[in-house]
This record gives sequence, structure tokens and C-alpha cells, in this order.
Amino acid sequence: MEKLQNYINGELVSPTGGAYFENIEPATGKAYSLIPDSDSHDVAAATRAAKAAFPVWSSMSIQERSDILLRVAQLIGERQEELALAESKDNGKPLKLARTVDIPRAQANFHFYATAILHFASESHSMGNVAINYTLREPIGVAGCISPWNLPLYLFSWKIAPALAAGNTVVAKPSEVTPYTAFLLSKICIDAGMPKGVLNIVHGLGPKAGADIIEHDDIPMISFTGGTATGEWIARTAAPKFKKLSLELGGKNPNIIFADCDFDDMLRTTLRSSFANQGQICLCGSRILIERSIYDRFKDAFVEQVKKMKVGDPQDESSKLGAVVSKPHMEKVLSYIKLAKEEGGTVLCGGKQANVGGAFAEGYFLEPTVIEGLPHTCRTNQEEIFGPVVTLMPFDTEEEALMMANSTKYGLASSVWTSNLKRAHRVAKELHTGIVWVNCWLLRDLRTPFGGVKSSGVGREGGFEALQFFTEPKNVCIKY
Ligand code: NDP
Repeated sequence: MEKLQNYINGELVSPTGGAYFENIEPATGKAYSLIPDSDSHDVAAATRAAKAAFPVWSSMSIQERSDILLRVAQLIGERQEELALAESKDNGKPLKLARTVDIPRAQANFHFYATAILHFASESHSMGNVAINYTLREPIGVAGCISPWNLPLYLFSWKIAPALAAGNTVVAKPSEVTPYTAFLLSKICIDAGMPKGVLNIVHGLGPKAGADIIEHDDIPMISFTGGTATGEWIARTAAPKFKKLSLELGGKNPNIIFADCDFDDMLRTTLRSSFANQGQICLCGSRILIERSIYDRFKDAFVEQVKKMKVGDPQDESSKLGAVVSKPHMEKVLSYIKLAKEEGGTVLCGGKQANVGGAFAEGYFLEPTVIEGLPHTCRTNQEEIFGPVVTLMPFDTEEEALMMANSTKYGLASSVWTSNLKRAHRVAKELHTGIVWVNCWLLRDLRTPFGGVKSSGVGREGGFEALQFFTEPKNVCIKY
């Protein structure tokens, strides 16, 4: 079986301890490669390499750094098909999604930050005839970047690209559940001529290799995307060391549908926002709030369409849903469906494991599931499920919709469907989320700030926000 390798100091290397664990393909339930079970020795070696590379990388001209990152972007584009196939196999997601979203967006992240750094500038503050202040924005050192399994290469690149563009070096860990495209990225960096030690990728388990990155004294900043419980632990561990932290965490996103919306557009988009990537996108709308006057119309049309969504072989173009990422995750989602029934919910469609058969008989497939009849306060409507499960809830007034939408501990994203311009602005302003989409979903401009409020995270990624995070401002005051 193929053995993945760590990427440390410019070379592909085996883990120091020689230990590996299996990488399972979610669509078949079978192991197909071996992942380094890295430990503190590997993280230490990666950090040493990154620290040694920092003086050279950070003092390179911006243009030189930009050129190298552009070569990485170009190679991702040239190897798009190989990367998309790998992402689909490793994660269970439909190949079509990997081809159209994951890999092009990973390429776009490198391209965006390779060019954004050319336009990144800092402020100056004049004190009239007395003095001038200017702010230096300097790279910090070694950045620790840890990402989850749902959009593996895409979210990995979303951290690595700005960290490197800003002049930092990086020790990164992809999720152990989906390491393959990070391994391919190592090869791309070697081929792109990335100087040794600038990017180091350590594979392994979160509480082991991941925790070692968080705790390492020579890694002063951490950019993390993942679950809220892990984020909490990271915040607690990093705080006494005064590390800079960016945390992109979980969500329980509301999708608010008013009766005056463009019904067909809303229905098409809501199918996507509910079930794209098997509902495993942090931005998926899992609580659908519908104005009571169109509740039945929406429910009937939505359920009819959901029943037609094909769950199957991720590489089959006609499959709308592939497998969820792992057996434990499938079991977690099923446990929430059971909970929803115990809490009094009615399953309108789906609700169980999907039987795909053939080579996929042992795969982790779930039917897209729609549930109604639950209060907004119950656990099903308060906790993140992160799977192909949505609930429907009617509302009577705008105030009630906002109250329900804002009632969870999360605040990542929300969608609003209405053709009333005033209402769109009003509701967008009152929603406690870091991102609001009006009459759309997942429309992304890489220049915009990305992140959540409340338990959905701390800090923002995207655009110059990320370059600000990965640099330290220093004010210089000069008296005339
Ligand atoms: P986890 O928090 O379990 O893991 C995220 C990453 O952290 C993985 O690489 C994991 O490694 C690693 N990790 C786990 N424990 C530790 C630790 N103690 N120290 C350091 N690293 C650790 O999340 P999931 O992978 O399950 O991802 C799903 C979650 O991510 C959902 O809650 C989702 O909402 C959230 N998410 C948020 C996004 C946002 O932008 N706000 C975007 C996408 C997802 P390993 O997998 O190897 O254990």
C-alpha cells in the first residue's frame, strides 16, 4: 500500500518513529494508503526547518515570493484532474464538486495571495507639523496552520498561501482523515522550486501531531479551522503562550425564506446550500426558516426534489451526493437523526444510511434528510450536525425569524431570501453572523472578510485580513 510522506525541509521523508496508520476511502470503507503517524520529533524537525528558512524567505523580494507562489498555483491548475480525483477518493465527495470547487479554489487561493501581496500596504498617520507615524507590517516567523477534512486542499491553501505570501514560513497539518491532496501539494512545492523549509507538512493525528504544533514554543501564530471543541482547547493552550490566533469554527447556519422571494431560484439554491458536499460545508444552511404562508408550498417542492437527489459513486457524474467522510462521522449524523425523532421531529425524507451496493456496499453513504416539527430550542436545532440533514421551521414575522436565527451559540453564515430591498438590508444588519448571503449562497469574493462570531470563531480570513493576521504591525513615530 502506498505510504504518504511528510514534507520537511524540502524533502519527502518518513515519520521519525516509522509508524503509520490506514487511510480509508469513505466510498468503499477500505484502506488504500498509509498515513505517517507523526509525533513531536517530526513537528520539532519541521519547526527547526521553518525557523531556519525564515530569515531568507522573509527578506526575499515580494516579487520573488510572488513568483514562487504563482508557480504553485500554475501547477495546481495543470494537475487539476489528478488532484480532483484524489480529493474525491480521499473525502468521498462527488468528483464533479472537487473539479469545479475544491481544486479551482485552491489554485485561486495561491494565485490571489501571490498577487495580493504585491498590493498590500500599511498606513501612515501624520501629526501635522509635529511628527509622522508609519506602520511597519512585518512577517512574524513560523506559522502553524491546521485544517479540517471537509474541503481539504481548499481550506489548507486558504491558510498556507497568505502565511507564505506575507513572508512567514509554515508548519502545516491537514486532517488525518483527508491527507492525500496535501501530500500532492508537497510534490507540487518541490516542482515549483519552493526553497527548502519554507513550507513543511506534517501528517498525523490531531491530538498528537496537531497538539504538538499548537504547543511548540517556536510557533508564535496559529491559524486553525475545525470544530468548536478543538478550537476551545487550542485557545486555552495557546493563551498562556500569547500566541496570535485565528479560529474558524463550527456553524448552525439559518436560511431565512420570505414569501416574496424568487421561489424557483431560492429552491434551486437551497437544495445546494443544504446538501452540497453531503452537507459537510461549514457554510451549509442546516436550519431552514420559512414564512408560514409558503411553508407547505416550500415543503412539498423541496421534499420532492430532495427525493430525486442521487446518492452514489462519487465519480459518477449523476451522483448529487457521495459518501460522508468516515464511519464515526456517519454514526454521529445518524445519532442526530435518532435524537431528532426522540425530540418529536418528523422525518419527511431520508433518515438512514443509503444502500449504494456493489463496490460501495461498505461505504459511508447517507440519504439526504429533511425533518420538521421541532422547536428552534431543541438540541437538533442548536447543535452542529455537519451532514446531509436539515430542519424546516415556519415563522410568522420578521422579528420571529431573526429571534430563531440568532438563537444558537454559533454565528458563522446565514442566507436571506426576499425581493424586498429594505427588508434585505434590515435583516442582514440584525443577523448575528460573520457572513450574510442575500438571494444567493456560497458566492465568494476572495477580497472579502471570512469568519464567524460567537462560538463560530475568532478573527477573519480572506483578503487583506489574512495578510494582516500573518504580519505584526509596528508603529514608528518620527518627530520633525
Ligand atoms: P476537528 O476540530 O476535529 O479537526 C480539525 C483539525 O484539527 C484537523 O486537522 C484535526 O486533525 C486537528 N486537531 C484535532 N484535535 C487537535 C488538537 N488537539 N490540536 C491540534 N489540532 C487538532 O474538526 P473536523 O476535522 O471534524 O472538521 C469539522 C469541523 O470544522 C466542523 O465543526 C466545521 O464546522 C468546521 N469547519 C469550519 C469552517 C469555518 O471556516 N468556520 C470551515 C470548515 C469546517 P485530525 O483530523 O487529524 O484529528
